[in-house]
Amino acid sequence: MKIISTVREMQAACRSLRKTGSLGLAPTMGALHDGHLSLVRRAKAENDAVAVSIFVNPAQFAPGEDYDTYPRRLAEDCAKLEAAGVDLLFAPSVEQMYPSGAASFVEVAGLGDRLDGASRPGHFRGVATVVAKLFHIVDPDRAYFGQKDAAQVAVLRAMVRGLHFPLQLVVCPIVREPSGLAMSSRNLKLSAAEKDRALALSRALQAAARLLGNGETRAAALRAAMLSHLSGQDGVRLDYAEVVHPETLLPVADTRQGALLAVAAWVGQTRLIDNLLVEASSVEHPRTASMPEQIEEMHV
Ligand code: AMP
Repeated sequence: MKIISTVREMQAACRSLRKTGSLGLAPTMGALHDGHLSLVRRAKAENDAVAVSIFVNPAQFAPGEDYDTYPRRLAEDCAKLEAAGVDLLFAPSVEQMYPSGAASFVEVAGLGDRLDGASRPGHFRGVATVVAKLFHIVDPDRAYFGQKDAAQVAVLRAMVRGLHFPLQLVVCPIVREPSGLAMSSRNLKLSAAEKDRALALSRALQAAARLLGNGETRAAALRAAMLSHLSGQDGVRLDYAEVVHPETLLPVADTRQGALLAVAAWVGQTRLIDNLLVEASSVEHPRTASMPEQIEEMHV
């Protein structure tokens, strides 16, 4: 695996790989876990070569958020990516990604202000900007993202469509710990007691999944079930629990046309997110594969 830290060198290395075959990219902020590695495995399976980026992007953190305390584990990450057979690791400095005087940003109006964009103003502007930069540097055939960050997926899909990026955006399922907790680099910041409390998020979604399994489709009922696990819990502070359209991120009254059940909460000082995607067909066949298997597999 070649480790690259400058934009120029990365552009040249990617150009050379693309001459002989397809190239997949998995952008990350590092402190890698099995969720990230699932993206890498999928990228390996679908492309001739794979690039991974590790960059804790200051532009997507507001002042007072956890940019300074975000976990950084570069040596361990390198070993994991090497073992996974990654060809290129791009780990640039902030100065490389944001050269002095750089004043160009990408904004997805509307979508960028919903869900996490509402709680974290400017967050998706930072995400869209850095991902657009990475797309220009790497020029991948396919780019891999996790369903874990469902609002990010909606914003980036809109950006790819709106700015005509010639690539396929591939979305991979949420990888969870055996407890049901969605894997996240921020889980490293949780104490053992907080990790326990953090199960409120996946339990909220499990409760909604049970209702959906019994044929409930009203957003209000599903939202109430989620809130019952997230409100008034010791050490857990609700940010949002919403039932929205997966592409517009606007609230829906009913899940029959498909919906995204999305939750965010603070556990101590750490903000966590999780979600459940309900496909349109799952209403007619609630117990078939269209019901997200990962939620069925969570031991409810
Ligand atoms: P991050 O390093 O948190 O910015 O995540 C990098 C990529 O990995 C994003 O596309 C995330 O959605 C994805 N990802 C993070 N956690 C998970 C998870 N538990 N399952 C699947 N994908 C994930």
